[in-house]
Amino acid sequence: MKTIIDFLFNKLKALKSLRFLIFILLFLAGIIPSALISGSIINNYRSREISQRITEVVDQGRILSTRLDSEGYLVNPQNDILENEMLLLTGIYDGRIMITDERFLVIYDTYGLSTGKTMISQEIIRCFSSGSLSSVYDQRNQYIEISVPVNNNQTGETEGVLFISASTDAIRDSEDILRRKVQIILVTLSVFLFGLSLFLSYLLVRPFKRITAAIDSVKEGFGDAQVSIPDYTETEAIMDAFNGLMEQLKKLDESRDEFVSNVSHELKTPLASMKVLADSLIAAENVSNETYREFMADIAEEVDREDKIISSLLALVKMDKSQDALNAEDTDINDMIELILKMLKPIADKRGIQMVFESKRPINAEVDKTKLTLAIMNLVENAVKYNKDSGWIRVVLDGDHQFFTITVSDSGMGIPEESLDQIFERFYRVDKSHSKEIGGTGLGLSFTRSAVLLHRGAIKVTSVEGEGTTFIVKIPMKQAIPG
Ligand code: ADP
Repeated sequence: MKTIIDFLFNKLKALKSLRFLIFILLFLAGIIPSALISGSIINNYRSREISQRITEVVDQGRILSTRLDSEGYLVNPQNDILENEMLLLTGIYDGRIMITDERFLVIYDTYGLSTGKTMISQEIIRCFSSGSLSSVYDQRNQYIEISVPVNNNQTGETEGVLFISASTDAIRDSEDILRRKVQIILVTLSVFLFGLSLFLSYLLVRPFKRITAAIDSVKEGFGDAQVSIPDYTETEAIMDAFNGLMEQLKKLDESRDEFVSNVSHELKTPLASMKVLADSLIAAENVSNETYREFMADIAEEVDREDKIISSLLALVKMDKSQDALNAEDTDINDMIELILKMLKPIADKRGIQMVFESKRPINAEVDKTKLTLAIMNLVENAVKYNKDSGWIRVVLDGDHQFFTITVSDSGMGIPEESLDQIFERFYRVDKSHSKEIGGTGLGLSFTRSAVLLHRGAIKVTSVEGEGTTFIVKIPMKQAIPG
């Protein structure tokens, strides 16, 4: 049972192939018109032959009728020459000739069967009454019948009727021969068309096979070479899209490698410091309790740093994974910012930095409270970290019915223009040497940007070195797409 299903499945798959479709279309496009044309040629041949035969018999009938009258055959039906001619004629047309007089009496029959008998038929009566000729083609029995009135040349009266029937069997025989010939031509043509369609279908789908081969070859690794298959506009477009995709994947691959190497480096740095501190403790003799404590405090600080890097990394990776898991809830943004500033006040106070919150209006918006709190907290924390002692931080909240904006400005060291594009990259720091004393991981802004984008918002930064930096975050009030 399973093998039958597999077999049918494979067959159906073959039917869905483009090559099969092209093959069938080409084959049918060749064979159907040929068959139709052949059929109409045979039909034309038949009707032309029959109408020609009718004309011939009618002509002969007319000539015979004139002679019957001129030779007075109806008055005296004794004329060997005429009768021989009629016999010859019926021989040629494989038919029969009968002559009736005005009393419907058969005075001559080439078969000799009806002579002397009365013959009344619709055609004979019609001939007498109208005095004109009529012809009938009986397709079923394959013969032509014509009735010709024998009119008196002087009086114009119909004195008798000449009745000729001619078989069309000969026409059918030659039609059969023609049909057989056409059939042979059609069979030969089918074989030729079959081969041609098979070949053309192979030729036409070959570029697609090359696409598959090109894509297959990429499985082994990203090469630099761009694959081009310009046979058709479509294959070119597919390959252009494919090359674009490969380029993007390559960039992703490179950025992943860079990310892994950055992560390893960042995680190793605190470990290396801890190792140095621990080694020096082990190597030193008679270490005082005080020095011991100092070294241990340094080691604890490095552990905290390592922990912070790992937590930030986890938060970032988690957000990347749950792109669609935005936990939007109605949030009072004023409250949210106030809470952030309250939490960061102790570290700002330590350096005498003044924090101001300016709320232009109360804002309630649909946001993921946890993610957005962390995102804005990163901005304010940076504004503290990269500020000068006794500097200031200003947070402004504003909005309309569609968006709200949070602006975080500081009076800090600023960011050099060439670094502005890179600060949102993971692990990017303007001045790596400062990192230890300032305590950054290089992941904060990367998280902030991801969180803002997740809210379908935007983040912008402007900065003047030595004067300060401003971050502007713009987020839609509602997360659900209307409609
Ligand atoms: P970090 O943990 O190092 O602060 P971030 O991703 O938050 O990492 O920031 C990246 C870099 O951008 C920082 O190292 C710093 O050089 C720069 N930066 C961020 N915010 C500010 C700011 N308000 N003023 C000056 N420089 C800043």
